[in-house]
Amino acid sequence: ERKPNVVILGAGYGGMVTALNLQKELGANMANVTLVNKHDYHYQTTWLHEPAAGTLEPEKTRMKISEILDSNKITLVQDTVEQVHREAKKVETTSGQELPYDYLVVALGSESETFGVPGVYEHAYHKWTVDGVRETKEHIEYQFAKYNNDETMQGKDLNFVVAGAGFTGIEFIGELTERVPELCETYDVPRERVKMFVIEAAPSALPGFDPELVEYAMNLLENRGVEFKINMPISEVNESGVILKDGTEIDACTVVWATGVRGNPVIEKSGFDAMRGRVKVEEDLRAPEHEDVFILGDCSLIINEETERPYPPTAQIAMQQGVTCAKNIKALIQGGELESFQPEIKGTVASLGGKEAIGVVGNKKLYGNSANFMKKMIDNRYLWILGGARLVLRKGKSPF
Ligand code: FAD
Repeated sequence: ERKPNVVILGAGYGGMVTALNLQKELGANMANVTLVNKHDYHYQTTWLHEPAAGTLEPEKTRMKISEILDSNKITLVQDTVEQVHREAKKVETTSGQELPYDYLVVALGSESETFGVPGVYEHAYHKWTVDGVRETKEHIEYQFAKYNNDETMQGKDLNFVVAGAGFTGIEFIGELTERVPELCETYDVPRERVKMFVIEAAPSALPGFDPELVEYAMNLLENRGVEFKINMPISEVNESGVILKDGTEIDACTVVWATGVRGNPVIEKSGFDAMRGRVKVEEDLRAPEHEDVFILGDCSLIINEETERPYPPTAQIAMQQGVTCAKNIKALIQGGELESFQPEIKGTVASLGGKEAIGVVGNKKLYGNSANFMKKMIDNRYLWILGGARLVLRKGKSPF
């Protein structure tokens, strides 16, 4: 009898956890499991604000997939997904491969949402990937390196603009405030010449976060030299910087884009019904009207019944979905009931650079050192899930 083909697209949080759980739970002869990913490594998207600012080596955030998954049980195909042909039940890749599937898991993550603002792709650093943040980091450092050697810069300010005061924007600016004094020292740039702006269209920073914690974060960052412009949409990004809705122009050597995400373009290209590239999935995580396609992580949309609004896309949810998805695939193959997915939000912690962070865990608010400790534990816990003690020792973070 022919074994079913299970194809997982994307080796991020959702895809890796699905693959790990299938590897554990499915008997070797039950299915052919293939994982398709752009790179031969997995990376920690939730850590990328650090290498982007240069406070952590990009290398620390990634690990070879072959060190985590058993290649006897999961076949890795290193390729870029172009499109899913739903009728033909095939995945088409950039190199021209066609991978037939019986069950498909789409976990391709997201890309930056521009909200139609012109110039973002051309002039802003908007890629939250290992390849993307390497370039952001080098670009930032280069601005300092050329400052004293470029006559047109003399007497001028070195301006950095972060678009978006959400989770990613705040975590990134926190790291940048830690990195700037080091760069000033290394490249003899007067500290007062460096300006950092965070520009947010919504009426507050960190929307949805506890107001007391938001105030703590903003005060701390302002004390480190950040200037916030809240309730102020950006209307254009260009070669010289940004133009705000009120007409103000801010010259900037670097614009970092962090205004939120939309689902991977493969979703829309493949013709799934989507909102901002995200598919509102059924309770068992399958796409509506699809018996054979599961959609996870930033490509999926699930509604929080308490607030009647979508849950913000997080690694936390993507990983939990991976567990349910693996169980449901097993049930489809071996027989049994499919489970409904219920997210269990354990907490949210945002780092602010150095030993500072804010967060809510359970119903407890955390600041400063205790939040920082929790953040590092969350980062390490994930390494533990992937690769146990060995991986924590190799890639883990000290909580102190
Ligand atoms: P990802 O983990 O992004 O993985 C997608 C994978 O698909 C990647 O490996 C990518 O290379 C691959 N891929 C993409 N396109 C293709 C293609 N066409 N073909 C083949 N492979 C492809 N969430 C939290 O819960 N807590 C946090 O503290 C937190 N902090 C964050 C900080 C930053 C700076 C950022 C950017 C995000 C943060 N998030 C956080 C959000 C979290 O990272 C995402 O929600 C999560 O990564 C989504 O997981 P995923 O499995 O959907 O996709």
